[in-house]
Amino acid sequence: MNAANPADRITATVRADIRVLTAYPVPPAADGIKLDAMECPYALPDAVRDDIARAVRETALNRYPPGDPTALANEVRQAFGIPPQAGLLFGNGSDELIHLIVQACCQPGDTVLSPWPSFVYFDMAARFDHARFVGVPLTADLQLDLPAMLQAIAQHRPKVVFLALPNNPTGGLWPDAAVQAILDAAPGLVVLDEAYQPFAGHSWMPRLPELPHAVVLRTVSKIGLAGLRFGYLAGHPDWIAEFDKVRPPYNLNVLTQAALRAVLRHKPVLDGQAARLRADREPLADSLAALPGVTVYRSAANFVLARFSGKPGGNAVHLALKTRKILVKNVAGAHPLLADCLRISVGTPDENRALLSALQDILSSN
Ligand SMILES: *Cc1c(COP(=O)(O)O)cnc(C)c1O
Repeated sequence: MNAANPADRITATVRADIRVLTAYPVPPAADGIKLDAMECPYALPDAVRDDIARAVRETALNRYPPGDPTALANEVRQAFGIPPQAGLLFGNGSDELIHLIVQACCQPGDTVLSPWPSFVYFDMAARFDHARFVGVPLTADLQLDLPAMLQAIAQHRPKVVFLALPNNPTGGLWPDAAVQAILDAAPGLVVLDEAYQPFAGHSWMPRLPELPHAVVLRTVSKIGLAGLRFGYLAGHPDWIAEFDKVRPPYNLNVLTQAALRAVLRHKPVLDGQAARLRADREPLADSLAALPGVTVYRSAANFVLARFSGKPGGNAVHLALKTRKILVKNVAGAHPLLADCLRISVGTPDENRALLSALQDILSSN
């Protein structure tokens, strides 16, 4: 055997459940129209970029990030309407905060539960942190199955329940009464993941002070700052203090902090971009629904899920779009309920038009 080949040592050393995994798929950057990752299609205006440049220039890179990010915390509270009573924790993306929650709550074998399909990282983080993940299937029309959720909560007694509100990849926003029933039934913590809240016009954040066993998770990734890697978690200070204990020191780098503070001085720019995407969502959904063989699921997020059950089906449509340099996400392989489904981010008006005309072409040429 080649002495430089570590295969045997890896087999003997790395966890078997990690070896069988494939890494989270991040497609290579490609030119063309990118509608596959729920990014904001709009670049920041020059005035904001100038402020970011100035803030970065004044940042001392030879020092560790400050231990007490009070100034940033005040600005984040102000910008995102976080109740004054709530504690606040920052993460290198909200993905990191998902890990911290599972690490702090779960002994090996404890259960993490979520409606399913939902955000794949709930499942991944649970497994990496030795928890057991239980996904409770949505209904055939991709809605929350509340009786099944309540039954699963009673059966598995999950330490942590994750609810993506709106849900990714289906786009639906679970009704308040159903979420409240889950909050009432869950024996542990309920994480309300509001990654797409700016597009939903709905939030649990103002009700947080009356929810002692829930935390609200947010990110700036979907509102134009995906490259920054910043997420925040709000909840009762006693919950937050526990999660803070497993946070890697200095997890939030100084450049992210400096750039975020500069951008938040221009918060109306972010709000305007979100409002634009929200206004463009229904026309896009309606146009997609008018195509032959296409079912569109109503979305409260910055993307729509569409099922291509005619000829050609979802996989072929995905490839045909790719050939035309239009990237959307094929989620068919993620769950049987998502057969033939493509998840499409709302783009600029030009991008949406290009997508629709390509789809018309693809669906009529068959
Ligand atoms: C995109 C997404 C996130 C992850 O956001 P990052 O802050 O970029 O890590 C979290 N939750 C849901 C439901 C998402 O779709």
